[in-house]
Amino acid sequence: MLLKKLSALLFAIVAMAGLQVVTTGPAAAAPRILYYDASQAQEFVAVVNQGAQIWNSRVTNVQLQPVPAGRTPNIRVYADNGWPRTYTTSLGNGRWYMGREAVNDGYYQPRIAAHEFGHILGLPDNRTGRCSDLMSGSSAPVSCTNAYPSATEAATVNTNFRTSATVPAQVFVFAG
Ligand SMILES: [Zn+2]
Repeated sequence: MLLKKLSALLFAIVAMAGLQVVTTGPAAAAPRILYYDASQAQEFVAVVNQGAQIWNSRVTNVQLQPVPAGRTPNIRVYADNGWPRTYTTSLGNGRWYMGREAVNDGYYQPRIAAHEFGHILGLPDNRTGRCSDLMSGSSAPVSCTNAYPSATEAATVNTNFRTSATVPAQVFVFAG
């Protein structure tokens, strides 16, 4: 009660003095945890885990973890013979396919996995042709073995999760 009055008084004094009240927020917000289920990724389970770890090593506001038993995953990962592709439902949620079409063409598997997770994290395709851009996807040469997001891409993901960016449901195809 007294504290409430004191803080109200203090606020009034600060307001009268014309000072700006700076809200710093919590020192370090906990990252948002997204659970992924790789149990249906067939021969690609290890590379799916690798793709998740790549993101975990580059961003702080979100982390990708294998789904614990009994919990509904945010992300489901599958494998089939088509192109790798992602179906997002909202920021941090959706499903993606490790498509053998690109694998058989020789695209670097960890890059595919990290790229598809990138869509789930709110990044669109960005066909710059540059290997240094993860989201350039198949526009970069098939010989590209960079599986890490650029600093800009990582910063965008951190911003997406800090601000809870609105991402529409979309389909992204890693076409060759
Ligand atoms: Zn893509």
